[in-house]
Amino acid sequence: MIDRRHFFKVENCTLMLYPSRTGHHSSNGSVMRLRIVVCVKQVPDVAEIRIDEIKHTLIRSGVPSILNPFDEFAVEEALKIREKLGGEVAVISMGPLQAKETLFKCLAMGADRAILLSDPKFAGADTWATSKTLAMTIQKIGFDLVICGMKAVDGETCQVGPEMAELLGIPHVSYVKRLEINEDGKSLIAERMTEQGHQLVSCSIPCLLTATKALNVPRIPTIISQLAAKKKTIEIFTAENIGAQKEQVGLPGSRTHVLKVFTPNLRTGEGKIVRADDKDAVVQLLALLKKERITQ
Ligand code: FAD
Repeated sequence: MIDRRHFFKVENCTLMLYPSRTGHHSSNGSVMRLRIVVCVKQVPDVAEIRIDEIKHTLIRSGVPSILNPFDEFAVEEALKIREKLGGEVAVISMGPLQAKETLFKCLAMGADRAILLSDPKFAGADTWATSKTLAMTIQKIGFDLVICGMKAVDGETCQVGPEMAELLGIPHVSYVKRLEINEDGKSLIAERMTEQGHQLVSCSIPCLLTATKALNVPRIPTIISQLAAKKKTIEIFTAENIGAQKEQVGLPGSRTHVLKVFTPNLRTGEGKIVRADDKDAVVQLLALLKKERITQ
C-alpha cells in the first residue's frame, strides 16, 4: 500500500494533478465497471538471440517467442485491479498470427478478452504507426484504463505507451512501481521511478500507465487455466475492422525509416591497473591523471 502520509514529504516527490475526466461514470454518479486494456507484444526470447556476424542482423530463426516480460506485469496489475473493483480486462497485440500464443497466455492468466491485430497492411510499422494502430483499436473497443509494459525487450524504445496516450488524448504515468486505484475508480495514485528517485503522482482516470517489474509478481497460469484458455476465441482485427486507411498504418503510416543497421565500432584504448596499497594507489593514480592532464 502506498503511504499517503508521505505524499508531500518524500524527498524527490512530485505531485502532478491532471484535469478530471468523468466520462466513464454513469449519469447517476455510480461507478461503472472499469474497462482495462493491456497492450502485449510477442518478442523473441532475448536470452536466445544471436547476431549474424556477416550480415550484422539478429538471427531470429529458431529463437522461441515469449510474452514481453514487462507486459506480464501489466497484465497482472490489470487482473488485480479487476479483482478489487470489478470490470473487464482486454488484451491486445499487433503482430503475425503466431502472436496468438502470447494472447493465450494472457487468457490463461485470467484476461477476459483477447484481440490480435493482424493484417499485411500493418507490416513495417514504426513506433508511431504501431501506436496509431493500437490506439485506434482501443478507441474502438472502449476503455477507462490502458496499461502497457515500460518497454519491449526487443525494440526497447519505451515510446509506444506515451505515444498512445497522446493519440488517445489522455494523461499517462510511465515507469510505475506501485499503484493504488481509488475505490470510486475515478483516480489513482502511482509511485513512478525516475533517474533521481521516485515521484508520487495523482492522476484521473481515464489514463495510461506503463509497468515496471517492481509493480507485482505475475501469476503463473495453471495447467487447467491453460487448457481453458485454449478453448477461448482470439478475435482477429484487420485494418478495415478498426477503420484505418492504408496510409495510416504499416510502412506507409510510419514517420521513421531505417536507413542502415550496423554494429558500432568499439572504442579502442588501453587500461592501466595501479597495483599498490590504498594510500600509494591514490598517490600514483593522481600522478597519472595529472600526467594525462585529466586533472590538475
Ligand atoms: P516499446 O515502445 O518499448 O514498448 C512499450 C510497450 O508498448 C510494450 O511493453 C507493450 O505494452 C506495448 N507494445 C509495443 N509494441 C506492441 C505491439 N506490437 N502490440 C501490442 N503492444 C505493443 N517490427 C516488426 O516486427 N516488423 C516490421 O516490419 C517492422 N518494421 C519497422 C520499420 C521501421 C521503419 C521501424 C522504425 C521499426 C520497425 N519495426 C518493425 C519495429 C516496430 O516498430 C517496434 O517493434 C514497435 O513499434 C514497438 O516498439 P518497441 O519494440 O520499441 O516497443
